Amino acid sequence: MKKYSNIIGGKSVSSQKTFLSRNSSNLEDILGEFPDANLEQVREACIAAKQGFDVWRKTPAPIRGQIIGNIGKAIEREKEALSQLLSREMGKTLKEARGDVQEAIDTCHFFQSEGRRLYGQTVPSEMHNKELSTYRRPLGVVGVITAGNFPVAVPSWKIIPALVTGNSIVWKPSEDAAATSYAFAKLLEEGGLPDGVLNVVFGGGAGSTGEFLVQMMDEKRLNKIAFTGSTAVGRKIGEVAGRNLSHPTLELGGKNPMIVMRDADLDNAVAGALWAAFGTGGQRCTSLGNLILDEPIHDAFIEKFLEKVKTIKIGDPIKHEDVLYGPFINERFYKAWDAHYDMAKADGATLLHGSRRITDTNKDNFIGDPSTGFFGSPTVWAGVTKDMDIFKTEVFGPTVSIVKVNGIDEAIETANSVDYGLSSAIYTNNRMWAYQFKDQIQAGMSSINNSTTGAEAHMPFGGVKGSGNGTRESGIWVIESYTYWHGVNDELSGKLQLAQMDTEYGEVKQAFDVSSLM
Ligand code: NAD
Repeated sequence: MKKYSNIIGGKSVSSQKTFLSRNSSNLEDILGEFPDANLEQVREACIAAKQGFDVWRKTPAPIRGQIIGNIGKAIEREKEALSQLLSREMGKTLKEARGDVQEAIDTCHFFQSEGRRLYGQTVPSEMHNKELSTYRRPLGVVGVITAGNFPVAVPSWKIIPALVTGNSIVWKPSEDAAATSYAFAKLLEEGGLPDGVLNVVFGGGAGSTGEFLVQMMDEKRLNKIAFTGSTAVGRKIGEVAGRNLSHPTLELGGKNPMIVMRDADLDNAVAGALWAAFGTGGQRCTSLGNLILDEPIHDAFIEKFLEKVKTIKIGDPIKHEDVLYGPFINERFYKAWDAHYDMAKADGATLLHGSRRITDTNKDNFIGDPSTGFFGSPTVWAGVTKDMDIFKTEVFGPTVSIVKVNGIDEAIETANSVDYGLSSAIYTNNRMWAYQFKDQIQAGMSSINNSTTGAEAHMPFGGVKGSGNGTRESGIWVIESYTYWHGVNDELSGKLQLAQMDTEYGEVKQAFDVSSLM
């Protein structure tokens, strides 16, 4: 079996404790043995990152950008192999895995040229012979902790902009995608990063490597932490960052609404809802949670939707390219998803489709042998109302809840009544309803006549309310998360000049009364 190591200061470092990474579709297929980095190793990684930072921050930004360009080329070259590995390890379809990897390539393309911008400003002074200017400065050592459902795209959204702006990194990838993360880290290294600029410590979360990395904030070894994962863990990390006066990046969970209005193109809306709810087996932060149907089309939509749900193909995506979704990424997600059946039943919701775990005797349209992984049956609940737990709770699996409303105002009010605000969508051809939705929806991202899922490398990604703390990934917006503004006064007068006190303010002349002309 292949044994992997942590990457600390450019060296391979093994740990005594280890864990295995497996093919999610076939749990007997082991991808490798990975270290579970201990506290001392996480500390060493932070020390190496501090040394790396001292070199990297002095590397001219356009050269840093060039290295990001090299990384983009390396990922492009390895795109197919990396996508295959990703699909095998965490179980998304190959088409989606290629999208996941392409997002990292696009991110490199975007940030390569940002190395030639990173603009500051020249600012007029209120005094003579004085120049004011602003500079973006890197923060220092950034701790990165990521979830396994987008094992290349999501880390790239943090690591690439943090690098181009001159920071160094200690990354704790998801234990669900250790092999993919290792491969991605090697491609990052290949681009030409000096030793210590990117450090990778593998391991688990609570009571393990992830928690040790969070602890590094209290030891003042991290200048920032960037996290993608559940809201519960994000809240804990935010508390530690808060007491250290550091502003974390927190990209968290979602319970994303899709509204379908009475005038919508129903076939288009059904296709959007199907993909949003069941693509990646519902294991996207932007997956559709609450499907909000306007009363006049409620029954017709459900009929068309169920017809499609019944045709969903599920299976090992490496063996069967035409499946809509594959396995649960891990047993923990499967168990949490399975538990939602009891929650929805206790709520009084009506089960329209779904039969828990797919087995040999309960196969739906499953292709192959379902006993090799954890596969879930596509599940649809109707009669869901705002007070139900199933309406409020992120399920993170192939499940959607249908809520009936009457009119745009009730639809938007319903969409806004969960404590998340990541993504959202509306299907309507009424421009005023689309405008009302855009104006009033509480979400970081919205689609009009499209799915709740999907992102482009140059658009801001992130949420409001329980979905995050307002930071944004991607595009120009993410740069704010990895730099601080430095204002510089350059005094050329050769004397002490004081703002506000040595400033010549213009004097107002005699008041002119316009009515005197009439
Ligand atoms: P999780 O919070 O359990 O784990 C995410 C990462 O944090 C993993 O690397 C894990 O090892 C680590 N971790 C877990 N507990 C920790 C702790 N106490 N201290 C430090 N690190 C810890 O998340 P998950 O359940 O694996 O992932 C699914 C969640 O992630 C869902 O809620 C999903 O919506 C969210 N997610 C959000 C986004 C986004 O951009 N908003 C993207 C992907 C996933």
